[in-house]
Amino acid sequence: METIKNYINGQWIEAAEAEYASVINPATGEEVARTPLCGPEVVDAAAQAAAAALPAWRRTPAQDRIQYLFKLRDLLKSHQDEIARAIVIEAGKTFDEAKAEMVRAIENVETACGIPMMMKGEIAEDIAPGIDERMLRQPVGVCATICPFNFPGMIPFWYLPYALACGNTYVIKPSEKVPLTMQVIFRLIDQVGFPAGVVNMVNGAKAAVDAILDHPAIRAVTFVGSSPVARYIYLRAAERGKRVQAQGGAKNPVVILPDADMDMAVRIVSDSAFGCAGQRCLAVSWVVTVDQARQPFLERICESARSKVVGYGLDQGVQMGPVISQAARERIEGLIGVGVRDGAQALVDGRGALIPGYEKGSFIRPTVLDHVQPGSELSKTEIFGPVLSLTHVNTLEEALELVNAGVYGNQASIFTASGAAARRFSYEAQAGNIGINIGVAAPMAFFPFSGWKDSFFGDLHGQGMDAVEFFTQKKVVVERWPKDWSRQF
Ligand code: NAD
Repeated sequence: METIKNYINGQWIEAAEAEYASVINPATGEEVARTPLCGPEVVDAAAQAAAAALPAWRRTPAQDRIQYLFKLRDLLKSHQDEIARAIVIEAGKTFDEAKAEMVRAIENVETACGIPMMMKGEIAEDIAPGIDERMLRQPVGVCATICPFNFPGMIPFWYLPYALACGNTYVIKPSEKVPLTMQVIFRLIDQVGFPAGVVNMVNGAKAAVDAILDHPAIRAVTFVGSSPVARYIYLRAAERGKRVQAQGGAKNPVVILPDADMDMAVRIVSDSAFGCAGQRCLAVSWVVTVDQARQPFLERICESARSKVVGYGLDQGVQMGPVISQAARERIEGLIGVGVRDGAQALVDGRGALIPGYEKGSFIRPTVLDHVQPGSELSKTEIFGPVLSLTHVNTLEEALELVNAGVYGNQASIFTASGAAARRFSYEAQAGNIGINIGVAAPMAFFPFSGWKDSFFGDLHGQGMDAVEFFTQKKVVVERWPKDWSRQF
């Protein structure tokens, strides 16, 4: 069993905390580590180290700062399998899903290596005779990130490389449920040899989060997790005058029109809904079939759901792993029960799954619920498990009304062969990420990872130019150099 350590001021530090959270392999039910539940003292040590490292790091030319990121990128790539293994062990993904996650992480490091170009400012000569004006981007200061459990290797990289490349120093808190992945990654960060204090990690849960939000040296906070916590982070950090962005939960609808390529739609929707056991913030969880699309889609999606090979992500041929914990399994099974109570029909029922050899695992098989009533409890609740709800309507107009009625706005997708229908959908759907014949519309690193309504609190998003804007503050210099003063030369 691994002891989870903090990484502060370039040193691995064993926490003295008496309280800890158990890290359970969700497939085997075994305890694989214990996360120390650190509080204000540890956060203060990390924030102080980051504050002390800031003046020298911000003066380091951007071109030199990114040399550390090039090295990190190479180490992440050559240790991809080792990191993926840690993700499988603590988060329950399949090995392929875990490796794919690291591809997206590395892509963000590569994008941040373009910072010398992206961080440049603007200049206007002669805004008045002999007066010039220029805008520069300078680092914000000490920045911090609070992570969720479902992408332990990728989500830190929506922020870490941009924060550092822009000249900030940094503190990260992984989810207490999945701290192992960042232990592996920080061993690589240690090898990179960043100056001490530039990048720090603290482990813990709410007490550590609150200490980050309250710490006066921390100037900006990014968060990814559930919507109630995202709202709380946004309000508390903003009250203390910090820059903040908080990504929240989701309930992603997908509309299937009758002219869709049905084989493709079923394959992609099935991968999106049941991949990562439905624990992706961009997983489609609610299908709205329009008119004649219902029957062909329904039959094939049930077939696809039944055929998924469920098991331990390190075993060959497994297509779907467990959900994160027994508590999550119970919550999800309870929600399936709520749906059935309210009139939904379980066409494929994944409750009570038993996987031979993994009887202590938190497994649920793919589940398909038909006739989920708009406005019912299930239609409004983020399930975050391998459960697909189906609703049927007669027109695209009605489908759009349903899509836009929800409180979340992370992603909305449509499957159709009609460009006009697709255009109308992308124009009118109220969600930050839109998929057209795409199941997981995850933006590449050089686009913002968007999110609207209760799926996002803030204005600037993670990744791409939004990240550069978030991790820098603008300074405008207006200057006058009278011509006469150059006469001496
Ligand atoms: P969570 O909100 O329970 O936890 C996220 C982080 O917040 C953890 O680090 C945790 O320690 C901390 N935390 C939890 N409760 C807290 C509290 N009361 N006060 C202060 N801090 C607290 O989320 P999770 O279960 O780890 O992750 C799953 C959620 O994340 C889902 O809702 C999913 O949709 C969402 N998510 C969203 C995106 C996105 O891009 N919008 C991406 C991934 C995950």
